[in-house]
Amino acid sequence: MTNLPLTGRNAVVTGAASGIGAAIAERLAADGAAVALVSRRQDRLDDLAGKLGPQAFGVAMDVTSPDSVDAGVAQIHDRLGRADLVVNAAGVMLAAPIEAGRLDDWTRMIDTNLTGVLRVVQAFTPDLIEAAGAGQTADLVNISSIGAHAVFPGYAVYGATKAALTHLSTSLRADLSPYDVRVTNLEPGLTDTELATHLDATGQDLIASMNDQIGPLHATDLADIVGFVVSRRRELNLRQIIALPTRQA
Ligand code: NDP
Repeated sequence: MTNLPLTGRNAVVTGAASGIGAAIAERLAADGAAVALVSRRQDRLDDLAGKLGPQAFGVAMDVTSPDSVDAGVAQIHDRLGRADLVVNAAGVMLAAPIEAGRLDDWTRMIDTNLTGVLRVVQAFTPDLIEAAGAGQTADLVNISSIGAHAVFPGYAVYGATKAALTHLSTSLRADLSPYDVRVTNLEPGLTDTELATHLDATGQDLIASMNDQIGPLHATDLADIVGFVVSRRRELNLRQIIALPTRQA
């Protein structure tokens, strides 16, 4: 049997129902990992997992709900065992101009993009530390955004969640590197996914015109990067990566 780069690895990918998370799950499975695909839409996860083979399975989990996370993590441990590769790609981007004062939308973004990541980190950090302690390669990969640095008017809270996630990744690396757990923060630019479908018609038009002008990344571009990062020898940690379409300033 061919030894693939990730044979023997046990991966968890949130946001795997679509876009970047789905492409990453597909790539990790193709490279030999067992993969738990996580998001809220079980049907989408099951469809994709079915295409990826017997080592892939879907787990419905809402990262904003502690009960849902507890139940999902228990299912993952039952089927996968100890996770040694965790990718946080679940996220939501809503246009929430400050003057509109949409506390509900701000809260949803903070709860998904930041607290949701922390819930997943809390659930799997013991696994990662144990796997690394047993001599295995152990990875935490967070999908942040170029919005952590660039300013997009009307998207202050989304940008703030991503700036916080980027800073969190840096801090987590300091905390986890003594255990030989690697942490990678990936900041994509404009990428063609379902992310914009949660915006109103004006927001969707804006993204469509940016897509026309810039030419977005494909989710598979980011999956290629993650596949590369997690298959390096365990002494090498690619900590921070910004991946932009060539024409995105
Ligand atoms: P998609 O909308 O295609 O994917 C988002 C994923 O997150 C979906 O699979 C969705 O599945 C899941 N999700 C959303 N809310 C929750 C929740 N509460 N619990 C669990 N899963 C959830 O967009 P992208 O692939 O583009 O987004 C992936 C990440 O990439 C996000 O963090 C986004 O901020 C980031 N990003 C995207 C960029 C872009 O231009 N597209 C640029 C930079 C960063 P479900 O609905 O089934 O829960």
